[in-house]
Amino acid sequence: MSDYRPPVSDMAFILEHVAGYPDVAAMPGFEHADLETVVELLKECGSFMAEVVAPTNRVGDTEGAKRLPDGTVTLPAAFTAAYKKYVETGWGSIPFPEEFGGGGFPHSVGLAIQEMMQASNMAFSLGPLLTQGAIDALLHYGNQEQKELYLPKMISGQWMGTMNLTEPQAGSDVGALQTKAVPRDDGSFGISGQKIYITFGDHELAEQIVHLVLARTPGAPLGTKGISCFIVPKFLVNDDGSLGERNGVSALSIEHKMGIHGSPTCVMEYDDATGYLIGEENLGMRIMFVMMNVARLSVGTQGLAISERAYQQSLDHALTRRQGVAIGATGTDSAIIEFPDVRRMLMTQKAYIAALRRLMLFNAVQMDRSTNEPDAQARARAVEIVGLLTPICKAFGTDLGTELTSIALQIQGGMGYIEETGAAQHYRDVRIAAIYEGTNGIQAADLVGRKLGVRGGASFLEFQATMRGILGDLTAAGSDFDSIREELEVQFDALEKATTWMLRTGVGDPNAVLAGSSPYLRMWGLVLGGWLLAKSALAAASLGDAEVAHGQLVLARFYAEQLLPATSGLLGAATAGARDLFALDADEFAGLVKR
Ligand SMILES: Cc1cc2nc3c(=O)[nH]c(=O)nc-3n(C[C@H](O)[C@H](O)[C@H](O)COP(=O)(O)OP(=O)(O)OC[C@H]3O[C@@H](n4cnc5c(N)ncnc54)[C@H](O)[C@@H]3O)c2cc1C
Repeated sequence: MSDYRPPVSDMAFILEHVAGYPDVAAMPGFEHADLETVVELLKECGSFMAEVVAPTNRVGDTEGAKRLPDGTVTLPAAFTAAYKKYVETGWGSIPFPEEFGGGGFPHSVGLAIQEMMQASNMAFSLGPLLTQGAIDALLHYGNQEQKELYLPKMISGQWMGTMNLTEPQAGSDVGALQTKAVPRDDGSFGISGQKIYITFGDHELAEQIVHLVLARTPGAPLGTKGISCFIVPKFLVNDDGSLGERNGVSALSIEHKMGIHGSPTCVMEYDDATGYLIGEENLGMRIMFVMMNVARLSVGTQGLAISERAYQQSLDHALTRRQGVAIGATGTDSAIIEFPDVRRMLMTQKAYIAALRRLMLFNAVQMDRSTNEPDAQARARAVEIVGLLTPICKAFGTDLGTELTSIALQIQGGMGYIEETGAAQHYRDVRIAAIYEGTNGIQAADLVGRKLGVRGGASFLEFQATMRGILGDLTAAGSDFDSIREELEVQFDALEKATTWMLRTGVGDPNAVLAGSSPYLRMWGLVLGGWLLAKSALAAASLGDAEVAHGQLVLARFYAEQLLPATSGLLGAATAGARDLFALDADEFAGLVKR
């Protein structure tokens, strides 16, 4: 039996009552994706992930990806059978257009599937995740010939994809990349250079790997303005779609990492490899930006997914491990779940996980609105909301991933710290999510740098006003909701103060705004979580199911009273400015203080 229990009932509740999925299902293009169908599909997918993928998690960690002396990269043996079944069952194709063999379902459904696959095995899920990024780029910017040649096989999972941005000198600063693309007479390009940290850069899980590579053409402008994006297939593709000879790309080595051992993280060498331009020259960053919202939301969801898996394991432990005697208990020992401090840890996990799932699905529904809303104004507003929420989903989700898997480990005491139980694996695996797909520092800079200024700050202020609208509903709902309303009101005020400060300070002192960007992003995450949990509690209260109403009320109240107050505690750091951050010179930072 699997040790992962897919949270489909919570997903179904959120889609119906919190995130606004029924509106999406009513939009043109999604007629076949009504809620009932989607929930059945998620149940079936959950069983698949729990029974087929989840059992590969531990063995994948211990076996790991390897590069053999002949240069072949191998994955844990269990991945091969699981991936074959994944392709056969078609789970990867659900959210892609029917035109290319996909299921044509909304992105929000795809994200729910992703959560369950990531929780089942994060390392395994990275292959399909990177393939999704490559598919999105081709869908938006590929020409018809490229789409027809690559998309059906990538969407079915027969071929996989990668994203090649990073180079030794170009990490967060993508504009520093130096890989070269030299035009050839036949319209293709010769790609040469080295890329590092490339996820699923080489392996034999799929017969073909379609690398998307950022490179510079001769004379391209410096920085991000001079980057182009190329398709570089591992095997050249014949006109009839069959595979030809091996292209000039290979994995020089794979990294030895803290976690996600089953995922091959490769140093890739491109040696005059044949590449095909996507879109036009120097459009590379724009292509990356198209994929970024989707990919960043997926990575934020990794924080949620691994936290859920770790929580389930820690709960099982808390129910069975017996130590001491809890206050008021009879008998010689108690399960540790009877101790208030263990309950505090469990509730903290459960409430944050509930908040994160609501936030991720809410954002995914906004993405669906941004593409399929018939009304142009509503579509444009959804684009703004996605822009606001995505860096928060990514950074808040993955920071919490680290914190919550650490709490799960703590609940298991020494058994959590030793490797055999797998608790440590969750903690190790999830840690990367705060680093890749734009570090969380870069997410915070994006929030205050690019997003805050949208319509002179009006986009943020309007969203805050929308959230405030819940206060009246909470008052009307009665005294059970009093503390939730009171706490939300205080923290809405704190967030608004920080936003006003950021808007006022930004123009004259951008460094001060950047100095407060991470605490400010955290404030947003905390408040969004409180708002969405309060929405859940209100919705549940109106359903006439006492158990559901009780469960949602307790979560919302615990969050509001015990987690949400951290928001105003961050106001000082968010608005302190940069003075003390730059007050020490390098010697003083090193502790070499002159006395
Ligand atoms: C396991 C793994 C898988 C990966 N997969 C891929 C992949 O598939 N494809 C790919 O292209 N890349 C991949 N990466 C690379 C990853 O995206 C980068 O590691 C990441 O972007 C950070 O770059 P860096 O490591 O060079 O760190 P740096 O950019 O050197 O950052 C170091 C620190 O400085 C901070 N910092 C840097 N610049 C700024 C700034 N302007 N403002 C504020 N803070 C800043 C960062 O937040 C960070 O805390 C992967 C990395 C790993 C480890």
